[in-house]
Amino acid sequence: MVLSSDATQERAEIGVIGGSGFYSFLDDVSEVTVDTPYGPPSDSLFLGAVAGRRVAFLPRHGRDHRLPPHRINYRANLWALRSVGVRQVLGPCAVGGLRAQYGPGTLLVPDQLVDRTKSRAQSYFDGEARADGQVPNVVHVTFADPYCPVGRKAAVSTARASGWEAVDGGTLVVVEGPRFSTRAESVWHAAQGWSVVGMTGHPEAVLAREIGLCYTSLTLVTDLDAGADTGEGVAHEEVLEVFAANVGRMRDVLFDVIGALPGNEDRDCLCVEALGGQDPGITLPS
Ligand SMILES: [Zn+2]
Repeated sequence: MVLSSDATQERAEIGVIGGSGFYSFLDDVSEVTVDTPYGPPSDSLFLGAVAGRRVAFLPRHGRDHRLPPHRINYRANLWALRSVGVRQVLGPCAVGGLRAQYGPGTLLVPDQLVDRTKSRAQSYFDGEARADGQVPNVVHVTFADPYCPVGRKAAVSTARASGWEAVDGGTLVVVEGPRFSTRAESVWHAAQGWSVVGMTGHPEAVLAREIGLCYTSLTLVTDLDAGADTGEGVAHEEVLEVFAANVGRMRDVLFDVIGALPGNEDRDCLCVEALGGQDPGITLPS
């Protein structure tokens, strides 16, 4: 069923951008196709109920994992989630550890982000007319603290309550990919004091901020990055194996976090007022 965002009857309040392993076993999941002014998102939205909350799941790379990180339509993804009512987003992702103590299986909830991507549309507010004729203003959002403090706290405390000793804070550096880092890049990233390296955390977080969504990143370390390891460097099979081994645990934590998030109307965090009264020039989905 293809619905325009305005006609979508199915609504959700919380969004999860992650693989099919997070929703495929839920009862009563409905698939909703949403188009956006930025083109189609990575896939349909899959709407279901978790912990009494309405949740929209979006496979970041598409359901058959056909989209590499640099070709994901991040703007469409966040816009599509907002279009069905989502105001709080959880973004689990696989990362490389940049310190020996962050080995495979570590759950780290970052509080900072460094952008080393190169080719991605990373703002809704570029001043260029959209296909629908709306023209966004040039707007600058506050991004000193890139993640929702309420979501971060919920993620760390629920993970710890489940027995998974999550690392509270750290810096996620996001690289363009799809290749993994060279040894020299990895040594450099670690020397900056950064914690983990991934390929999708940017511009996901900033786009969420621009349209008033709370965004929380939950990073699962699947390997030690080249500079933190004396081995052969990162192999994709290794990443997939560790992710598969932890997907159930990650899902359980995500579902607990979903239950711990405030109602959308009760949000009281910096994310809500990110525009600081600036006129976006475009109509955000209601
Ligand atoms: Zn927030």
